[in-house]
Amino acid sequence: MGSEVMWLGLVALGGGLALALISLVYLLLRLHEAELRVRAKEAEHEGVLDRLQENEYRLRTIIESEPECVKLQAADGTVLEINPAGLRLVDAECAEDIIGKRIYDVVAPEYIGIYQENMARVFAGEAAVYEFKSITLKGRTRWMETHAVPLRDARSEVYALLGITRDITEHKWAEEQGRRHQTELARVARLSTMGEMATGLAHELNQPLAAIANFARGCIRRLRTGEVAPVELIEPLEEVCEQAERAGEIMRHARDFVRKSEPRMSAVDINQVVRSVVKFTEHEARQHETVVTLQLAPHQPRVWADSIMVEQVICNLVRNAVEAMAERHSLRREILIRTVPHGEDKIEVEVVDTGPGIDETVIDQVFDQFFTTKAEGVGMGLSISRSIVESHGGNIRAESRAGGATFRFTLQAIPVVLRKDERRYSLHS
Ligand code: ADP
Repeated sequence: MGSEVMWLGLVALGGGLALALISLVYLLLRLHEAELRVRAKEAEHEGVLDRLQENEYRLRTIIESEPECVKLQAADGTVLEINPAGLRLVDAECAEDIIGKRIYDVVAPEYIGIYQENMARVFAGEAAVYEFKSITLKGRTRWMETHAVPLRDARSEVYALLGITRDITEHKWAEEQGRRHQTELARVARLSTMGEMATGLAHELNQPLAAIANFARGCIRRLRTGEVAPVELIEPLEEVCEQAERAGEIMRHARDFVRKSEPRMSAVDINQVVRSVVKFTEHEARQHETVVTLQLAPHQPRVWADSIMVEQVICNLVRNAVEAMAERHSLRREILIRTVPHGEDKIEVEVVDTGPGIDETVIDQVFDQFFTTKAEGVGMGLSISRSIVESHGGNIRAESRAGGATFRFTLQAIPVVLRKDERRYSLHS
């Protein structure tokens, strides 16, 4: 009995030990498994880290070797990062010269407002392209163009601006040269127009000068008789003054016409401009037996324009019409100038003639520089006219009918609400 109990005790003890051993092995196995999993995860993480590092390295290499300036900026304008091309662009000797500093240190003061507006757009989530003048760290002036996009974090919040900036100084310079050249060309064309209109001008001046001579002679005659009361001379002398002022006005206008200057914009009454062109070209038209008729729309809005330039356009069109009809000995020589409002915001000027019209094969070329069918032509009149009209935000076209040619161009009218406050309009244009 005693040995039985002992035997049973031993069996129980063996069972317990075996169970404990099994549990221990099981535990060890789980631990091993867990360790394997941790190692696998670690390896995975290391792989991810390696890949991340590789990607970052690749990106950095691309950005650093990029020939354009690539930069990161914070919302307050602090430069966070910039590549070597960027350092060269702002004339920085080392990264510390610009990183951590405000970008406004290299933006021309008059462009800081524009720069800030565009930065605000990018930090509001938009992409932006903007031009600005920059003063580099060495004081050099450069024109820049930036393409900027927002950079977002994991919560989709914009934390920086990524900008790619390039130097457009040469392009700007060429543009400026082109504009100056165009202004100069227009002036030369006006000079030649003026030369050809000199007879017309002389004719126009003749009238007030003759009137002045007449009134003055009248006064002298009456003074010689000794019977004139001084008060009776006031009226004829006033007439002399008025005519002298008119002559002065004509001369001033002629001088303005050939002046060399940048466009001078103002609110212009287009009908007034047409009348002034007719005055200038009257003599030439009469010489070529051409009748000029006007159909001017009453009560139309004013246009925002340089009146001398618009005058030059109408002048070119009228003179071309006179020449076309004279050259082909047209039997009917009539020019109709119309002004037609198009809604609230546009005015069209039409010059219609009864000449030979324009050959269909060349109608698309008449606005090209140096295109001319005249023996003595230069082929610049219409090309200059087109650039003037386009610089005023309008367009010009030519049409040919059986009985002649029609040239039409549009100008932007000043909206009625703004007419009372034209200064404001000038700020927006
Ligand atoms: P140019 O008068 O020196 O020839 P423009 O640029 O003023 O230069 O005109 C270019 C050409 O367009 C003219 O040579 C002519 O062939 C054509 N053209 C212009 N206006 C008319 C018109 N009213 N009728 C017919 N042809 C015209």
